[in-house]
Amino acid sequence: MSYDLILRNCDIIDPGEGQRCVGDIGIADGKIAAISAGPLTGTGAREIDVAGQIVTPGLVDMHGHCYWGVGGTGLDPDLVGARHGVTTWIDPGSSGAATFPGFKRFIIDRAQVRVIPLLNLSAKGLVHCQEVGELNNMIYVDTELNAATLEMHRGLIAGIKIRAGRSSTGQTGMTPLWIGRELCDQFSIPLMVHISMPAPTLQELLPMLRAGDIVTHCFHGKPGGILMRGRVRDEAWAARERGVLFDVGHGNSSFSFPVTAAALEQGFPPDSISTDLHQRSIRTSAKSFPYVMSKFLALGMDMETVVRLSTLTPAQAVNQDHLCGKLSVGAPADIAVFRVDTGPVTFKDPQDVEVAGTQQLENTHTIASGVLLDRSRDPLADEPFPLSTI
Ligand SMILES: [Zn+2]
Repeated sequence: MSYDLILRNCDIIDPGEGQRCVGDIGIADGKIAAISAGPLTGTGAREIDVAGQIVTPGLVDMHGHCYWGVGGTGLDPDLVGARHGVTTWIDPGSSGAATFPGFKRFIIDRAQVRVIPLLNLSAKGLVHCQEVGELNNMIYVDTELNAATLEMHRGLIAGIKIRAGRSSTGQTGMTPLWIGRELCDQFSIPLMVHISMPAPTLQELLPMLRAGDIVTHCFHGKPGGILMRGRVRDEAWAARERGVLFDVGHGNSSFSFPVTAAALEQGFPPDSISTDLHQRSIRTSAKSFPYVMSKFLALGMDMETVVRLSTLTPAQAVNQDHLCGKLSVGAPADIAVFRVDTGPVTFKDPQDVEVAGTQQLENTHTIASGVLLDRSRDPLADEPFPLSTI
């Protein structure tokens, strides 16, 4: 048997298919053609020996901004993905109905990696949102245009995104959330809600979320977060009980080591680990998906769980686990390879709280639909625009 590419001596960690072995992966026609514990018979047009490195499904980032050049926050998904091991970006509302056509044509359709969009309830998406807001005035919500866009792109747009919080919905309260709720119910898609400083409060917000809806920035350290006097709030436990998902969304200011450690300690792990990577957070304390994963290793989460929450569970959250999030024979060959650097390392959260760890994941190869991505270009080196302050 001959393959386009064979990865040899992979330390495979694939919770989705329950595979944990050292072996080889054969890739042909963009798909995973064979996985063997031990040597794979046959030859590859190209073969890479990755002995000593872990090999996982390509990472699925539940919260990664990749509308490059629009709004000032988005990263180039191929350039960043190639260096971080991310083969699926779930973009959390960088585009709204008025800016979605450009996102589809210029980013989603052209990217080598997979981009799964969530549509911002605000027609303009995250254009200049820190400066003028995107949902602080209901004039930005065009329900008809939203419905028409969702109808036209059924199966592509995986959900609605709303940033709830003082700086975004401070003036409009729960109104956008109820409109979003209705749209999601109409199209049977999840609602992703970014939580931040109230209003609205989590007591108002969490009870209106349903099974499959997603709370992102779940472990932020701002007032009004998931902890109430140090304990995970009753509303959060009740939401989890109903099937609401809790996503990390690290970002530039939305992750706290003390909050996360308390939640883990109380048996409230996240349903997915994600970066909220954008032009600013990639330069501050989020840095990369493998870096955020390493923070969870430092907090005591085991490697298999960290990989599962960074691959399988986000893929399941958007109903795409037949395409990504696990290493299935016959599925698109989305694969990430990591070196595990061992030794003392100190991680910081956005508030400069430090946690000591002993392992740091470093991406070495990324394969998207069978193509070994080009990692030669530094995605941060040549942004031809002044950076937004988000
Ligand atoms: Zn975000």
